[in-house]
Amino acid sequence: MNLNFSEEEISFQNEVREFLKKELSQELVRAAKQTSAVFTEKEVAMEWQSKLAKKGWLVPSWPEEYGGTDWNETQKYIFSSECARAGAPNLIPMGLAMIGPLLLGKGSKEQKDYYIPRIINGDDYWCQGYSEPGAGSDLASLQCKAVRRGDQYIINGTKIWTTHAHLANKIFCLVRTDSSGKKQEGITFLMLDMHQPGVKVEPILTMAEDHDFNQVVFTDAIAEVKDRIGEENEGWAVAKYLLEFERSGGIGGSKSLSDIEFIKRLVNKISLIHENKDFVSTYLSKINELEIRAQAIQYTSLRILSSLSSGDSPGPESSMMKTLVTDLEQEISELTLEVIGYYGIPFQDTSYGSNEKAIGDEDFRPIAGKYQNLRATSIYGGSNEIQRNIMAKAVLGL
Ligand SMILES: Cc1cc2nc3c(=O)[nH]c(=O)nc-3n(C[C@H](O)[C@H](O)[C@H](O)COP(=O)(O)OP(=O)(O)OC[C@H]3O[C@@H](n4cnc5c(N)ncnc54)[C@H](O)[C@@H]3O)c2cc1C
Repeated sequence: MNLNFSEEEISFQNEVREFLKKELSQELVRAAKQTSAVFTEKEVAMEWQSKLAKKGWLVPSWPEEYGGTDWNETQKYIFSSECARAGAPNLIPMGLAMIGPLLLGKGSKEQKDYYIPRIINGDDYWCQGYSEPGAGSDLASLQCKAVRRGDQYIINGTKIWTTHAHLANKIFCLVRTDSSGKKQEGITFLMLDMHQPGVKVEPILTMAEDHDFNQVVFTDAIAEVKDRIGEENEGWAVAKYLLEFERSGGIGGSKSLSDIEFIKRLVNKISLIHENKDFVSTYLSKINELEIRAQAIQYTSLRILSSLSSGDSPGPESSMMKTLVTDLEQEISELTLEVIGYYGIPFQDTSYGSNEKAIGDEDFRPIAGKYQNLRATSIYGGSNEIQRNIMAKAVLGL
């Protein structure tokens, strides 16, 4: 692979850098860096989303008629790595990386024309209603029931681990519409309003005390038939298509590389605090090993992205990427915590807007909470054990 950018690519890189210099405020960078939650806080992510949308750079891979760009793969790579390097907040995936691509691939023209602009301009903020108390890895066992009545479905049941349900006005759900056949049959994919009397949201706190996810209880909640994606009882294929996008997750590696740069800065800071120059050499080989893996992930995800842009869906490669990226993220967070040592012990409030003074350097504040919350990455989107099962079957043919 030729790693040197052409003149046009360098000029594009400069254009991205100029944009970031102008639009990415230090306050946004600081807020993104200080959060310990898995998902960026809504206010922070949406402020960044609206700046990108205004520039037309929010959804580079989508068709141009729905807000995408005509960028080639190298431009997408340049954009994503410049954003990561500048410390831009992560965007919230439920609209932009899940229901959006699903609507574009499987939605009707009416659904696309109505929902896609609302995802881009932030009118709709989505959450994902897949998991249930008795259906996680074995998602097809889901029991939340929908009964058709005229132009509507009446929904009763419970969803769990629903990220940002307390902030969302829309949910996409898998519901059971038939129990007579195999469990994968009889599932339907519906979109519905969160703000209606039949929807109750109950908070669940993470072990770092962040409020990311919830339990959602439906009691005669209503979805319109026109908000069904795919046919009734054929939602399993729709659900799997969406999961491939959820797991492939854009260009992996750039974020990890910037997290590794952060570890390097921390190591230098701590060596100054302890007045111990040897501290740096203790960590060099561990940092280098993580850096090599992050680069390998970056190149692999670029290859996958280039096959996506020629119209393919992500396929089982998404399982491989999900496992590699999340294992690496967890190891990076472990090393980060190890580097700060006892500065990781006190509980530090990292909620957006908190004016509690940091214990030690401000950079140390979110590290312990992040380490705890990142245990979730190998569970959500289908646990890594399940991803390995998929690879064993679909890739290795075992
Ligand atoms: C931070 C976070 C956010 C989430 N957000 C959402 C959301 O917004 N919407 C949503 O619908 N869900 C969400 N989830 C739920 C997530 O998808 C489930 O937690 C996941 O699918 C695992 O299901 P479970 O928790 O029921 O675990 P279980 O399925 O009970 O699994 C328990 C353990 O057993 C292992 N296991 C299970 N079956 C097998 C098998 N066949 N082979 C090998 N090992 C197996 C699993 O790997 C796991 O370690 C979120 C989860 C987390 C942690």
